[in-house]
Amino acid sequence: MAAMGADLIFYGGPVWGGSGADAVAVRCGRIAAVGPSPEVLRLRGPETRMVALNGRALLPGFFDAHVHFLRIGLERTFYVDLSLARSLAEALDLLHQAAENRPGAWVVGRGWDESRWRERRYLERADLDRAVPHQPCCTVRVDGHLVACNTLALARCTRPEGEFVDRDLGHLREDAAWELMSTVKPDEETLVEGLAEASRFAASHGVTAVADMASDDLPLYLRAVRRGALKTRVFLYLPFEQVEAWAELGLVRGFGSPLVRVQGVKLFVDGSIGARTAAVREPYAGTGGRGTLLLERNELARRWRRIAEAEAQAAIHAIGDQALEEVLAAARMARIGVHERHRIEHLELASEPQLDAMDALGLVASMQPNFVANWSGPGKMYEDRLGPERDARIDPHAWVVARHIPLAFGSDGMPFGPHLGIGAVLHPPHPVQKLDLEQAIQAYTEGAAFAAFAEAELGRIAPDLRADLVVVSGDPRATPWDKIGVEATYLGGELIYSR
Ligand SMILES: [Zn+2]
Repeated sequence: MAAMGADLIFYGGPVWGGSGADAVAVRCGRIAAVGPSPEVLRLRGPETRMVALNGRALLPGFFDAHVHFLRIGLERTFYVDLSLARSLAEALDLLHQAAENRPGAWVVGRGWDESRWRERRYLERADLDRAVPHQPCCTVRVDGHLVACNTLALARCTRPEGEFVDRDLGHLREDAAWELMSTVKPDEETLVEGLAEASRFAASHGVTAVADMASDDLPLYLRAVRRGALKTRVFLYLPFEQVEAWAELGLVRGFGSPLVRVQGVKLFVDGSIGARTAAVREPYAGTGGRGTLLLERNELARRWRRIAEAEAQAAIHAIGDQALEEVLAAARMARIGVHERHRIEHLELASEPQLDAMDALGLVASMQPNFVANWSGPGKMYEDRLGPERDARIDPHAWVVARHIPLAFGSDGMPFGPHLGIGAVLHPPHPVQKLDLEQAIQAYTEGAAFAAFAEAELGRIAPDLRADLVVVSGDPRATPWDKIGVEATYLGGELIYSR
């Protein structure tokens, strides 16, 4: 049999991790060769498509280790995006316009962040009643842990007044918030188009794989795949409520297709710093509150054991240092194996002894470097909520790396994409947590793949791995990061985005 030519060859530009290589050949969706051009060009056949890099660099596709993928699409097609509102008044304007455009329908706003507003306060029921008087309106704060409602939307909430329900202000928190949000879903067609849009948007950021957290969208993903609308590899972490169904079906982590697979189960131990619901050891600045522990160690250990027995991977949301304390205790109680790669999502406040314990237990850190850019530093939200001492040691990326704790980076969609986060860890407000370019890109590629047990398949440019590749505008080693842009994205050798 004659030697088969490559389907695709990139040449003439630096190849990330290729120790001096400047060319890559792709065959049948996988990388066939990496090396110097003269060597790789020998795989050129009559049908080979040639891509001249002309000094642009080739990187492995980015893997966003923590997203809510459908939401990213719907934010662009269905929800009212409040993340760019510069003031409370502007957010209300956006909601008012949306209400006029779709009379009678729910108006669902997402992504508001009062810490960016000159008014510096939460949206309240009275504001929303003024902006949207005739139809139900609810608005989710950027962290997802607080929902402000108008009177008509609040009527849907059946819970009594209490810790999570404040009817005067129209504020729902945690379970009460999620309960309400689960009742406002767009129709099927809008949902599939939402996933397709998320996938296109991901490709435009050079993202070829994501871990989708607390997602019950598996049927929707399968429909999107059948229609050819999904061009992103998705690793699903299901809500804990589905662990029994998982066990009954005999699923194991990694089951699925090259595009969609079930990977694990998500648990929530606390809330967020923005909503003052992250469980912290010392009180929030200016209050006596220490946040809300949603699961204490005994119940967490029980659930974790159940997840491990079902051969699923646990992805455990823990932001505050008290939440982390519960996780560490529960890991010991549940006798979690050190090679099971259970993940801690966010891991924002952690002491060095806690990180030592994490390392000893074999836990994986899944962190969001863009949070630093958004909220850390003088005068910003973390300092306001936690005071300067804790702000200075928040999001301890360098401490994690120093201990060789496996580190996966993701964006949590705030905003989506790796660019802001990588820039933030290269030049953080508190230099003690600085990472170098290799470490930052590693966490957003190979590190994220490792955290999903996919490192033999994704995350590097090496023979036999899938040809998920990104062409960026310059060599990141020679060009300032903020000048680097995505020019083209390939999934399994197929061009899925071109600038
Ligand atoms: Zn999240």
